[in-house]
Amino acid sequence: YVRWPFNASQRKNWVQLAGHKGNFKAADKGRILKRFSENEKQCFEKLSGDVLVPFVPAYHGVVEKDGESFLQLDDLLANFENANVMDCKMGFRTYLEEDIVQAKERPRPREDLYNKMVEVNDRGPTPEEHSLKAVTKYRYMKWREAMSSTMTLGFRIEGIKKQDGTCQTDFKKIRLEQQIIQLFKDFVGGDVSIIKSYLLRLKDIRQALNTSEFFKKHEVIGSSLLFIHDHTGKAQVWIIDFGRTTALPEGKTLSHDIPWKEGNREDGYLLGLENLYQLLESISNE
Ligand code: ATP
Ligand code: MG
Ligand code: MG
Repeated sequence: YVRWPFNASQRKNWVQLAGHKGNFKAADKGRILKRFSENEKQCFEKLSGDVLVPFVPAYHGVVEKDGESFLQLDDLLANFENANVMDCKMGFRTYLEEDIVQAKERPRPREDLYNKMVEVNDRGPTPEEHSLKAVTKYRYMKWREAMSSTMTLGFRIEGIKKQDGTCQTDFKKIRLEQQIIQLFKDFVGGDVSIIKSYLLRLKDIRQALNTSEFFKKHEVIGSSLLFIHDHTGKAQVWIIDFGRTTALPEGKTLSHDIPWKEGNREDGYLLGLENLYQLLESISNE
């Protein structure tokens, strides 16, 4: 366990479990700023009025700070005291189909991703990648999927922060159901009532996804479910991170519950959600 290096400008209880450290800034009370992306802005705008609204952080438009643009969002941790937080990245696929095209047509092998791969497993790279000391983003993402539970269960744990302030993000090799069950049990400190609250919220999320126009019309890649609970027993799950969620061409829709084949753009989100739901249910039934 490492203690999280809180940025002095951040609120005391705020924690970031994924992404570059510079991507977030503290904002007015109860809000946070996430580095601007046109894609994510469009998602938040399209989400307004959708049935998913109660499950995504409220969006308050684009703001400028220190010469940079940010999306202003509700801070989901604001109403918790020393929250426990878990980021679960959803879907069987974490890269876009256009990343494959890029890797084939204009490969840009990267040294930083090679180093990250070797850090976890020095037998990860192929002999050719070893001699280049570089791998493409597509290769890296695919390798991460296979190492973790993404390819088998359709979700993976990215990071966990416990109420004591400890934070862990080294879950790259967590792949087995039993490992994930253990992490969830530790996360809730053995309190099954928290798991039951999470299950109720996931049920609502599943139902909303099944009727959401937004969900139907978007390929949802790299989005997470953020699990939050504290010692009072309050427990919530939120859908976050639309940075790589991509609108389909006019008239096209996805079912989100069939396997991906190159070209069909399916993300397997609902299959992953079902697996996650069943895993939590098995804990609550023990
Ligand atoms: P990546 O694409 O690598 O996952 P990102 O830069 O797109 O990262 P997010 O995934 O949106 O960033 O968020 C990173 C982390 O910040 C989350 O795991 C969560 O811990 C925290 N976070 C994000 N949005 C919120 C929010 N609205 N309220 C509270 N915490 C948040
Ligand atoms: Mg994310
Ligand atoms: Mg993101």
